[in-house]
Amino acid sequence: MRCLIMDDGILLQSVEGLGHSPFIANAGEVWEVLQGEKEEVCRELLAEGPLFHSEASGLSESEASENDREIKWQHRVLLEVRLRKLNDALDRLMDGGYGRCTDCGEEIDRKRLLADPAASLCIACQGKADGENQIPYHVSAGQ
Ligand SMILES: [Zn+2]
Repeated sequence: MRCLIMDDGILLQSVEGLGHSPFIANAGEVWEVLQGEKEEVCRELLAEGPLFHSEASGLSESEASENDREIKWQHRVLLEVRLRKLNDALDRLMDGGYGRCTDCGEEIDRKRLLADPAASLCIACQGKADGENQIPYHVSAGQ
């Protein structure tokens, strides 16, 4: 089985294709960190298998309770969101936009990038985005 994400992803691109980001001296290292995590996420997604109710051939109703499915689904959604972020970061690394906030264009704090190499927003914009665009999972988990 192929990882579906690979079809629109850039899993096999090489470091040689990197653009020059004005903010990042160690683009090659960042690239490897992002690629490493991406492969991990991809493997996890593969391990979980298909979860779409209509396509889940190996999964009978009795095998997985509604609740289990829900938890797995949420986990998978989080993985896919993460994968998208990693792909976006790799894209920015390619076109030289890495390290800049995709919203306001300001340089992203270096510590923030160290903590999350896939970060696409500066702290201020991330705060705004978190306020406007809560993932339901986090909302319900806090209740
Ligand atoms: Zn910003």
